[in-house]
Amino acid sequence: MDEVTGAQLIAEALKSQNVEYMFGIVGVPIIEVAMAAQAAGIKYVGMRNEQAIYFSRPAVCLVVSGPGLIHALGGMANANMNCWPVIVIGGSSDRNQETTGAFQEFPQVEACRLYSKFSARPSSLEMIPAVVEKAVRSSIYGRPGATYIDIAGDMVNAKIDRASVRFVSCCPAPPVSQADSREITQAVRLLRAAQRPLIIIGKGAAYARAEKEVRELVEVTGIPFLPTPMGKGVLSDDHPNCVAAARSRALLQADVIVLLGARLNWILHFGFPPRFSPHVKIIQVDLCAEELSNNVRAASALLGDIGAVVRQLLETVRSWRFPSDSQWWLTLKEKMTANAQISKSLALQSTLPMNYYTAFHHISELLPKDCIIVSEGANTMDIGRTMLLNYLPRHRLDAGTFGTMGVGPGFAIAAAVLEQTQKSAQRVVCIEGDSAFGFSGMEVETMCRYKLPIIIIVINNNGIYSGVDPKTWKEMEKMGDMTTIAPPVTLLPEAQYEQVMSAFGGRGYLVRTVEELRSALQESLDNTQMPSLLNVLIDPASDPFKYHLATKNNWEN
Ligand code: ADP
Ligand code: MG
Repeated sequence: MDEVTGAQLIAEALKSQNVEYMFGIVGVPIIEVAMAAQAAGIKYVGMRNEQAIYFSRPAVCLVVSGPGLIHALGGMANANMNCWPVIVIGGSSDRNQETTGAFQEFPQVEACRLYSKFSARPSSLEMIPAVVEKAVRSSIYGRPGATYIDIAGDMVNAKIDRASVRFVSCCPAPPVSQADSREITQAVRLLRAAQRPLIIIGKGAAYARAEKEVRELVEVTGIPFLPTPMGKGVLSDDHPNCVAAARSRALLQADVIVLLGARLNWILHFGFPPRFSPHVKIIQVDLCAEELSNNVRAASALLGDIGAVVRQLLETVRSWRFPSDSQWWLTLKEKMTANAQISKSLALQSTLPMNYYTAFHHISELLPKDCIIVSEGANTMDIGRTMLLNYLPRHRLDAGTFGTMGVGPGFAIAAAVLEQTQKSAQRVVCIEGDSAFGFSGMEVETMCRYKLPIIIIVINNNGIYSGVDPKTWKEMEKMGDMTTIAPPVTLLPEAQYEQVMSAFGGRGYLVRTVEELRSALQESLDNTQMPSLLNVLIDPASDPFKYHLATKNNWEN
């Protein structure tokens, strides 16, 4: 008899579904699952916080029962909300102890249902490969998302005869569908009649790997485009048709919008007035039928894969071109020039501590064009999005649709592990607000353990949104009980986050001036062996809302 354990079955099934990476935090009862995965040739990355998600063929996130799984729910929800494929495998208590109050017992399959597309426990060891295949397939077919497999503790080391197992071969790549040809005709009719057309490139276009088709659409039609935060880089931010610097005006005044893989949710102000024209006609491309006409009725609903549908549009639109000397282009260009001037004057202020714009200006001058930018925080992420350009698709990761903070270090590790195995020289730069960094700061140990040359830049303003300076803090301390005095948004002034990095053998830099920022960043870029952390102390009162107030009319509209 050829015997096999539950752990081996899980590992072999994942391997046969082409899963290459497993991120996890082990403990009872799933240590053997991680060991079996490594034995089967899957790369295992041990993390410190249950937030390890990457996109392409899905990766696996392995967690322990009860609190481990519950802590993973945040990461799972984050992936699911962003439409990212990930498979979570959770150990759970033994089957014969169910409902007895077993160690870390929790109704995990039910709990995961809200956070995933598919949540199940194999009914027996024989069924493990079939459930693994279904979890992988469900995560990548249709709208991608998270899936969950529950493994009872006693299944991990139980043995069965291989001959009794239901093996399932690797699921093929997701089917690709095209839009209804009548809807394509309607879309092209709308486009040709547009006075102020706009293409919005969402992160769906990035997942669809439709950069070639989208570029052709933009360049053949000459229509201006606007990327969403993670749609940045599908076409380079410095493409002549990119009107990101006139975002608000472009959204407000466009009369026909081609929406490529972006939901009309909060990120796009729901498509509602006053941010959009009440008469805007939306040509919506999405592979999820339920998404079509959400919030705004689509004037043309193109259900299908972005690459395939854009090719259909190109065939029908032929050589029609939106005139580059139109009033629309003039309006947008005028706004872009004015806005560029504003951010430039903020960036060139030489006051100390630095403001956000100064810090980002110098960072952007030194970053290589092909680097992967991970960014989270409130102001840090918002201002970084406009100041740091992306030149390549799928090179920006941030707090995303769910606005999750604490995901940055996990994303950076996933990206850096991938770069390391592909022997690519692309760098991963993780730009974090000081508050955002705090959520998963201990992942710095993971980065040092695997010698991942990630560069973390903490934009430190001593707080959430804003903080106070050290002198004011000391005065507050003298006044009495800080729990009644310290503003809830504040964090310890000038906290030495760089020492978290040096504690584990990476390089830490405390940065106050432009010169220190530039030399620390250059040294970090030159160091390809270990991670670095730059703790950039900026003005704690450098609240961008102040700038926005000062420049509101120019900047926003
Ligand atoms: P953003 O945050 O960039 O605005 P969203 O996450 O809101 O983007 O929207 C992405 C959309 O892209 C989702 O509605 C998803 O269904 C869709 N999508 C994902 N992959 C594809 C694809 N290959 N083809 C078409 N649509 C896709
Ligand atoms: Mg902060």
